[in-house]
Amino acid sequence: LFISFEGIDGAGKSTHISFVQDKLMQRGIKVITSREPGGTPLGEALRDLLLKEKMHLETEALLMFASRREHIAQVIQPALDAGTWVISDRFTDATFAYQGGGRKLAIDKLNTLEQWVHPHLQPDLTLLFDVPVEVARARLDATRTLDKFEQEKSDFFNDTRNEYLRRVAEFPQRFKVIDSSRSIETIQQELSEIIDALCAK
Ligand code: C5P
Repeated sequence: LFISFEGIDGAGKSTHISFVQDKLMQRGIKVITSREPGGTPLGEALRDLLLKEKMHLETEALLMFASRREHIAQVIQPALDAGTWVISDRFTDATFAYQGGGRKLAIDKLNTLEQWVHPHLQPDLTLLFDVPVEVARARLDATRTLDKFEQEKSDFFNDTRNEYLRRVAEFPQRFKVIDSSRSIETIQQELSEIIDALCAK
């Protein structure tokens, strides 16, 4: 099974990824956790460039998909073929949300790249950690120094969040929206129920 985790910066993805991974391992499920951009040596090098360098918006989108192509070839597909579950901290929805929604790259171009890079592969489940931009922002300010993307204005994050929500409406069977403004305990209770349901399938 392929599960992707999505959400704007500060939505609390990372905390919940460790929780879900631990829960799955406790059940004896073989699972690997990876991330995008990144997930392979080349992908991590691209991530470094993406987070640090200023570049043309289309270059940024192409590098996101280049990192993804490598990630699928080296990590995701081999694991799925071996029956291992894959958790990815972000996947293609993030490119639609950030480069499409946030930065306004034409969605058509992203559709074309998606068709090229992974015409058939989609996550079985995408957990979208959804939170109002102000809440996410306050959490980020409290916890760490911000990278190039995280320093964006709140308009950018509103547009990013809205594109995520638009995709939820477009692919309702794949997405599960988690209201991430609640307490960690409440969210983890919900995640436990989701995992129980997945494992019962
Ligand atoms: O998920 P994570 O916080 O590790 O992502 C690193 C940075 O890359 C974030 O600031 C995120 O906003 C940004 N990013 C992006 N476009 C993507 C994926 C991530 O701008 N497609």
